[in-house]
Amino acid sequence: MFFDINGNITVNNIIQYPDKNYDELKNKALNCKRCHLREKCNQVVMGEGSTENHIMLIGEGPGADEDRIGTPFVGRAGQLLDKILKAVGIDRDDIYISNIVKCRPTGNRKPTENEALACAPILISEIKLIDPKVIVPLGSTALKTLINKNASITRMRGEWIQRGKYFFLPTFHPAYLLRNSNMKEHVWYDFKKIKKALERIKELKNNNNL
Ligand code: SF4
Repeated sequence: MFFDINGNITVNNIIQYPDKNYDELKNKALNCKRCHLREKCNQVVMGEGSTENHIMLIGEGPGADEDRIGTPFVGRAGQLLDKILKAVGIDRDDIYISNIVKCRPTGNRKPTENEALACAPILISEIKLIDPKVIVPLGSTALKTLINKNASITRMRGEWIQRGKYFFLPTFHPAYLLRNSNMKEHVWYDFKKIKKALERIKELKNNNNL
């Protein structure tokens, strides 16, 4: 669990990554060999997107397509995410998208708790850099890692969770939607909420209140 009830990040990790400059952070992350996942993947897949709009989507880890191309959410699940974003009028370039782990777990399995912890310094640096007002855990692994290992995505999806200055809106991972298309409508409603939050953030920024 990274975020306690007051929004403090609870992982203590001695590895420091840059958290002021995206390019510097990305360069450091791309050379990371901190856990065994790096031995079997093609490359580190760093988060991408807007570092200005204070909204982060956090998935689980790269899949085969992401591992090949080096960009998060470009496979079938990513294409579905793009469709959902488009349907609610969110430009993908307006949000930042990342994963709990940056290297592909073999066989598309879920990352373990230890792998998530090993990769935490990079994600925490991304969070410090983006300074998100809204964090969207995509799926169970992200929700459990960020909020509470006993959290249930089925029960908590679509409900705002406040942790200090951070507002979380968990929703299903698009890969889950590929197998459960009847859940798409719920996720569409969740992304409508994210769209509203993005509009509010942009408004505050335009008025120099953020
Ligand atoms: S998963 Fe994260 S910690 Fe492990 S090697 Fe890749 S970038 Fe480093």
